[in-house]
Amino acid sequence: MTRLWNDPADFADEMIDGFVAANGAHVRRVPGGIVRATGAPDGQVAVVIGGGSGHYPAFAGLVGRGLAHGAALGNLFASPSAQQIHAVARAADRGAGVFFTYGNYAGDVLNFDAAQERLRGDGIDTATVAVTDDIFSAPPGERRRRRGIAGDLTVFRTAAAAAEAGYDLASVAAVAARANDRTRSIGVAFSGCALPGAPSPLFSVPAGRMAVGLGIHGEPGIDETAIPTADELAALLVDRLLAELPEDVTAAGARVVPILNGLGSLTHEELFVVYRRIAQLLEAAGIVIVDPHVGEYCTSFDMAGGSLTLFWLDDELERLWGAPVDAPAYRRGALPAVTTLPAAAGLAAPDAAPATPAPSGPGTSAPILRGDAASQDVARTVRGALEEIVRAIDENVDELGRIDAVAGDGDHGIGMQRGSHAALAAGAAAADAGAGARTVLARAADAWADRAGGTSGALWGVILNAVAARLGDEGRPSAAAVADGVADGLRGVQVQGKAERGDKTLVDALIPFSLALQSAVADGLPLADAWRTAADDAARAAAETAELMPRLGRARTHGAHAVGTPDPGAISLALIATRVGDLLAGAPEGN
Ligand code: ADP
Ligand code: MG
Repeated sequence: MTRLWNDPADFADEMIDGFVAANGAHVRRVPGGIVRATGAPDGQVAVVIGGGSGHYPAFAGLVGRGLAHGAALGNLFASPSAQQIHAVARAADRGAGVFFTYGNYAGDVLNFDAAQERLRGDGIDTATVAVTDDIFSAPPGERRRRRGIAGDLTVFRTAAAAAEAGYDLASVAAVAARANDRTRSIGVAFSGCALPGAPSPLFSVPAGRMAVGLGIHGEPGIDETAIPTADELAALLVDRLLAELPEDVTAAGARVVPILNGLGSLTHEELFVVYRRIAQLLEAAGIVIVDPHVGEYCTSFDMAGGSLTLFWLDDELERLWGAPVDAPAYRRGALPAVTTLPAAAGLAAPDAAPATPAPSGPGTSAPILRGDAASQDVARTVRGALEEIVRAIDENVDELGRIDAVAGDGDHGIGMQRGSHAALAAGAAAADAGAGARTVLARAADAWADRAGGTSGALWGVILNAVAARLGDEGRPSAAAVADGVADGLRGVQVQGKAERGDKTLVDALIPFSLALQSAVADGLPLADAWRTAADDAARAAAETAELMPRLGRARTHGAHAVGTPDPGAISLALIATRVGDLLAGAPEGN
């Protein structure tokens, strides 16, 4: 249970404000997240980490000397947006390229990849290693699909030490990839967690039971057992990890860093009782224990549970692991004292974005392009549609979260809410300034992607930007132009997210919507009528996703459990299509 908050929607931002206020000697706020307050030498590879909030000390507490140069900080359990990641990377870059590393989750991959593209467009070299330590999240043959949990720390720390030692970008990435290959974790859970203001926990474990392999956002595990004794739990964790050694490693004689991680509600005392037995078992297997860690390194709000990570060292990784670190939540060894950079400097390169408290989308301060009178009129309809989307999402926010919690991480409602509200604010500001329809919707699209974060936020940014491009800032677009914009949006979503029909994603509603819209418009129906027909098809298709097995995104790991529940992204897309259709039908100029 979380007990303290103001407005739950502000929780993550206010948490970051407080964290920065408490750790000014280490970190500085920049748009999208934080960077070191102590700077870094020119020519050093910048290590940028990130992910959703709710995992402290990951990710904010791991920025500092010897560890990350910056962190992009998303909302609770939601990936940071591509804009946030891009802005943090620009602020952290020291001219030798940016190395990204983060836990392997669909929304993070999508947004970090998009940020990487933009940085390359800026002429900044980048490399990435997504951490895949959780052995229960996919079989050994599919290691690249595994998610990242507390093993993040080994990759972050060795990559950062390599950067600090002057390795170039490719060499930092090679070290990180090897550390990831040699890091294996498994987790167990006794109870779920409740996000601030949420009426009930995001997920739960039956009383007296322990879920084995349960993900840190409630993604399913592989097994459920009665709660064992501490020694029995130690044996379960060690046995499973010793059954899947990295290639070319033999247990006897191997040097290993064990990390016993609490998820938020286990006490350190409980962890020590478990660790006592873990150490005995590792030693009995002939393993040499190096620098054991027992504590909280990656939490999941107030979830009760924990994980064991084994990091199988080699000579170079052990040397890098031993380098000193001085970050707010993680200190190792001793570093000489340094002074912090002046307040506004951060790690910023001269042309990077200035430090301001709130992340903002690209171009939010650029001059507004004025539309002609006809386009300003279309812009009023766009604004009305954004208002209707906000209403529709507000009315359904709990239900969307509930469906997402069945198969995903439960944040779909709040993500859509954050995105749609930001989109309306940005779109309305542009409309008030006299912008045409394209500019109004494009501003809304960028604000949506930036503020929502997560997978669906990035994809809604793609859809709305594609439609915007066809609206233009002059004259009234034809119905065919709008239908083409939706088709472009579908293509963009599939290029970015790689989902096919039947993967149980919003694509399953967007494909029939786009096809029906195109054919109804081609038959000569006015836009409002064509849209409503298409929205009906989308609603039917969204409901039918209940029968599908998820194959992509966070829900993938949920497998059969998700059958019977529709895909939240498809449902919200159909809801929006339906409500906008009703609005267009009622609007005085519905074509
Ligand atoms: P997150 O998955 O980051 O928590 P949300 O909960 O807001 O983000 O959105 C989840 C929805 O995103 C899913 O229900 C699905 O419709 C959609 N989605 C996830 N992955 C993909 C993908 N690769 N392509 C298209 N849509 C996707
Ligand atoms: Mg989600």
